[in-house]
Amino acid sequence: MTTTGLSYVPNNPNSPWQIYLQQVDRVTPHLGHLARWVETLKRCKRVLAVDIPINRDDGTVAHFEGFRAQHNLSRGPGKGGVRFHPDVTIDEVMALSAWMTVKNAAVNLPYGGAKGGIRVDPKTLTRPELERLTRRYTSEIGLIIGPDKDIPAPDVNTNDQIMAWMMDTYSMNVGATATGVVTGKPIALGGSLGRREATGRGVYIAARETAYAMGLDIKGARVVVQGFGNVGGIAARLFKAAGAIVVGIQDVSGAVVNEAGINVDAALEFVAQGNKLTEYIGVTPITEDEFWALKSDIFIPAALENQLTATRAKSISTRLVVEGANGPTTPQADDILHDRGITVVPDVIANAGGVTVSYFEWVQDFSSFFWTEAEINDRLERIMVEALKAVVHTADKHKVSLRTAAFIIACTRVLAARELRGLYP
Ligand code: NAD
Repeated sequence: MTTTGLSYVPNNPNSPWQIYLQQVDRVTPHLGHLARWVETLKRCKRVLAVDIPINRDDGTVAHFEGFRAQHNLSRGPGKGGVRFHPDVTIDEVMALSAWMTVKNAAVNLPYGGAKGGIRVDPKTLTRPELERLTRRYTSEIGLIIGPDKDIPAPDVNTNDQIMAWMMDTYSMNVGATATGVVTGKPIALGGSLGRREATGRGVYIAARETAYAMGLDIKGARVVVQGFGNVGGIAARLFKAAGAIVVGIQDVSGAVVNEAGINVDAALEFVAQGNKLTEYIGVTPITEDEFWALKSDIFIPAALENQLTATRAKSISTRLVVEGANGPTTPQADDILHDRGITVVPDVIANAGGVTVSYFEWVQDFSSFFWTEAEINDRLERIMVEALKAVVHTADKHKVSLRTAAFIIACTRVLAARELRGLYP
């Protein structure tokens, strides 16, 4: 079946939505009789575009553009983050919502996929303006979100405070405290222990399990990490704690190396104090080209999308890539890495730890019964290990990459639910 174009998204082959459609095309031959439903995956169920007017502190009124896309709700309520960024577009939000459908189904969480965003640079707003923006956006998308409809969470440039404002606004509008309407909240408002570390921990678990299957010992393995924030920083810390040697790190300030191993905890503390990673005393700054030429056993892209390009994929010297970021590898680079025998654990599995603990938060909010951090980490470990095992098994069976295998599992689950539910009316 050919891809049907949608009139409201640009037909740019490199846009996130078009990249997602190419990934669906790759998986379609493996979907058997369910392939007749595949067009379902090539559209969003619902996309809401909203105008967000706010009073600026100087007395003027400013208007912002906001979105909430619900890609698929066949298996449960929508789930996915909210991004505040000047580059947010309807195309990007739709693609991110579709990847959430795949991620949630790949780890078998009872959710569909959704994502939201506001086209804004939050650094240009004061805190009261940011609060007004968040509250008006929440009211506007309040038509379609809710604890059993669609549950937002933090993403780029949004955090637990923004989730607290979203929860409060929704609660005021419905006249009842609804903690389960968002996840990633502060602990004092029904947030979950372990949520902040969950994505980095999941990346580490995915890397450890895959390395083990490849006969690669984490102890003594050379690890290079791009991105030293929530995901990359926590993953680097766990690698170091397991005896790996973190030789290179890159963040927005630049790249650094220490062949004997970077003291990750000290570097994290240095950066948390507002310093630049490149000025940390235990490392030597290197150029971007030198960073991409570093020899490693495990490479963790945990910063932005489209970092591992075809050119970099041809020369990168590593055995295993574990995607902490969403969409860090271009489809061309993916093929090159596959041909070179470099294993890639795709984002939809590798960074699913965050949404998994978001699911735990939602369950805890519903039952008003909160778990210990040990219980949370234990359950996260079990879900990640099981999901990864299934992906490896499917990749072996169909002779495909781990990414296509994850898509096969996820799309089969989504379309089986679609078929069982049937078409209304
Ligand atoms: P973050 O803002 O905490 O950290 C981002 C890191 O990337 C920072 O260290 C920053 O300096 C670095 N960076 C930014 N621009 C860079 C550049 N040009 N070159 C190199 N480094 C650069 O964000 P995060 O929460 O760690 O998210 C990182 C990625 O992981 C994003 O793609 C995000 O969508 C994805 N992700 C995050 C979560 C989560 O729970 N936080 C869950 C799933 C996926």
